[in-house]
Amino acid sequence: MSILNCQARLRLPNLASYLHLITDRLQSFDAAVSRHSGRMDFRFSFGEATLEMVPDLLVLRASAGDRDGLARTKDILATAVEIYAKQDGPEIVWTGDLAQDTRLAQFREMTVTDVYDLTPHMRRIRLAGEDLGRFGKFQGMHIRILFPTRAVPDPAWPSLGANGLPVWPADDRRPVARVYTIRTLDLDAGHMDVDFLIHEGESVGSAWALQARAGHKVGIMGPVGRPVRPADWYVLGADETGLPAVGRLLETLPCHTKGVAFIEIADSAERQQINNATQIELHWLERCGKAPGTDGRLAEQVLSAEWPKEGTAFGWFAAEAEAAKLVRETWRGQMRLGRDQTIAAAYWRRGQAGLMAG
Ligand SMILES: Cc1cc2nc3c(=O)[nH]c(=O)nc-3n(C[C@H](O)[C@H](O)[C@H](O)COP(=O)(O)OP(=O)(O)OC[C@H]3O[C@@H](n4cnc5c(N)ncnc54)[C@H](O)[C@@H]3O)c2cc1C
Repeated sequence: MSILNCQARLRLPNLASYLHLITDRLQSFDAAVSRHSGRMDFRFSFGEATLEMVPDLLVLRASAGDRDGLARTKDILATAVEIYAKQDGPEIVWTGDLAQDTRLAQFREMTVTDVYDLTPHMRRIRLAGEDLGRFGKFQGMHIRILFPTRAVPDPAWPSLGANGLPVWPADDRRPVARVYTIRTLDLDAGHMDVDFLIHEGESVGSAWALQARAGHKVGIMGPVGRPVRPADWYVLGADETGLPAVGRLLETLPCHTKGVAFIEIADSAERQQINNATQIELHWLERCGKAPGTDGRLAEQVLSAEWPKEGTAFGWFAAEAEAAKLVRETWRGQMRLGRDQTIAAAYWRRGQAGLMAG
């Protein structure tokens, strides 16, 4: 197999103050890391990355066996640098194989083929598109969906920049992004299902889902998200926004997996059928009239779960930002669990639009 290689050289005067954040993020994509003098290597399942520290410069190297793997490796490197090296205004320009490519590997235009309600507030929408193989790779369950809006009814899609990251059209053609979960993916049939929570308030994703009809178009980018590590035991916690991910995990984790899952919903009408293939015990928590994001019981129940003394264990939590912060701080701070044992993510924040949409 021929290997594709590329590199970028960056001048980052304050690198020493944030290098650990970049390496921590790269490592969280299930990388095997090896450290050498002035160099760190990261081996992912889809490619390899190297950070080389030479005087005044950080050299990024990416290599992979195919185009998708190279694009993914470059994207992870460039995103980590863009996030943590902001103060140094990094200018990433890749040279080497496929450096002139303008096709954004992680983008697809998708067409709605089916829409139906699972429950009064959860709408399943089937999206069909070409060449969806990469959305089953890289262990990421999530996508950014690029929506048309009332202000931009006919958006233009992003292309690939020289830095390996998307280049967006001007504001009058720019779609609006929100993050969703691929609930199921059928590569043979060429489609995926996404479950949209229909919630109150001015919105983009929920409003689009309410009027979606067969033939409507959206863009998707991905997959995104850190991998859920293999483990013998899990504690899972989610409100309605994390429910699609918990449903997918319960239907796809190995059948001998043990643990406990808590899902917060508005009321009993929001319970949905999950074909739980595991031995994970599922508990539904009903808010019974409380506003979304104000009922503390989900975090409480998740934090009261007793972690096993033997075997491997993983904690996964997705809900409103306050609850996610409490769970993350308790797991990482008080319980001293590592990033490789937990994910506690804010999926939305009360009163804020487009959280995590980038
Ligand atoms: C990795 C990831 C995966 C996700 N997967 C899914 C998924 O599969 N299905 C899904 O429905 N959502 C999912 N979400 C959550 C979704 O991205 C947010 O709820 C997002 O805000 C929805 O966008 P919107 O345009 O509908 O609302 P926005 O325009 O973002 O927000 C408008 C208003 O609605 C409020 N709001 C947002 N979400 C909620 C809510 N859940 N309940 C009450 N009020 C809310 C906001 O606080 C704001 O005031 C996911 C989020 C992440 C980070």
